[in-house]
Amino acid sequence: MIGDAFFEASARTTLKVSQLIDHDLHCWKTSLILDLFVPSSAQAILSIPIHSRPHPDKLLWIPDSKGCFTVKSAYQELNPQSQLPNSSDVEWRKLWKLKGPERIKLFLWRVAVNALPTKENLMCRMDIEDTCCVLCDQECEASTHLFVKCPVAKALWFSVCWGLRYDELQLSTSADIIKLILKPPSALCQTQDQWRVSLIMAFTLEEIRCTRNVVLHHKGEVDLQSSIQFFHFKVHECYLIFSKTKHTTPDSSTPYWSPPPPGTIKINVDAAISSSNAALAVVARNSQGSLLNIWARITPLRPPLQAEAEAMAWAVQLDTRERWSHVIFEGDSKVCIDAIHECSDNPIWSISHFISDIRCVALSFSSCCFKWINRSRNFAAHSAAKFALDGKVSCFFNSVEGGGAPVNTSALEVGGALCIIGSTLEVGGALCIIGLALEVGGPTIRLFA
Ligand SMILES: [Zn+2]
Repeated sequence: MIGDAFFEASARTTLKVSQLIDHDLHCWKTSLILDLFVPSSAQAILSIPIHSRPHPDKLLWIPDSKGCFTVKSAYQELNPQSQLPNSSDVEWRKLWKLKGPERIKLFLWRVAVNALPTKENLMCRMDIEDTCCVLCDQECEASTHLFVKCPVAKALWFSVCWGLRYDELQLSTSADIIKLILKPPSALCQTQDQWRVSLIMAFTLEEIRCTRNVVLHHKGEVDLQSSIQFFHFKVHECYLIFSKTKHTTPDSSTPYWSPPPPGTIKINVDAAISSSNAALAVVARNSQGSLLNIWARITPLRPPLQAEAEAMAWAVQLDTRERWSHVIFEGDSKVCIDAIHECSDNPIWSISHFISDIRCVALSFSSCCFKWINRSRNFAAHSAAKFALDGKVSCFFNSVEGGGAPVNTSALEVGGALCIIGSTLEVGGALCIIGLALEVGGPTIRLFA
């Protein structure tokens, strides 16, 4: 991994990160790094952004997101096959919000992460001889077999779930079964609420599991009729309870950007990534929705989360330069905003130095808060980042320096488009012509109203 020169150097003295940084020019000592490390390591180091204030060196355990060593992460690093099946694309929020008893949600979660003690799972951990499905005695008892492929399971699904046939569904893992329950086929939801369909499917799974346990532990026999009766009883009971629960009030707030209170500046922040670069964008508007500034700049390629955190750190620095004292920062990266709010000293290691910079600089504002918003409310920043990325240019727009009246962009999000293309700024679907000047002295495009 590391060049001979490094071993020689490190044999004499312990190399510190700060020795690789040119503190006057605020950049990496490229030639020294290329000399010390193999090209792939050198490239990885050179792509790390240098943060604005010095931080002490610390050891990080890369396989763990927080950089902390755990026995579990080491085990998974050594045995990649031992990791849980890929259930990361299950919509967990939807699962935990499902209308139904907590018991059933926990059960669905255990199915999704394949954590039930099926015979296949037991076989991986202990010596068991009989791995055959207790219901059909034909195949190994894996979750997918027990819940969808087994003839007994198929019969139950068919009887209680509107003639649903497993063969028509694309289910290859236990997580797929839960994804189907959380998002049932639309044909089934035409006659009743989706939550009821999901609940019926969830109870079907549970009934299959109960039937299996009765046969295994009480030496009973498969009794489809009583299983179906018991299933209907449980579903009916659940309907009575959960139909009465109050519906959550729909979110009546606008899905679009909203102006801050008078005297406060709202700063929207976003990052965009291509295969070769990243772009950061910061958009500042006042309580009238007037656009004050847009900054966008190109940086070397970074992972998306790092780019989002870097964009927020940049936004905070820019605003201290503007001397705005009451500010609201909005971004659409929940992980990043959560990390800023989190009191833990151990945020995700790859963005930890940005987070500590942000927290530190934020103290200089009279009032300052960070909010997570969805993408539709962050369209201006998103478009500005995309504009910089597509054109591979950094750009700056200032309504005051441009000499014109501030551009009212409160309508920008309504139209769903902020396009700074050539010399036009698209506002709410209509093109407004604004001036565009290309600065000769650098890669900056200056836009003015
Ligand atoms: Zn079976």
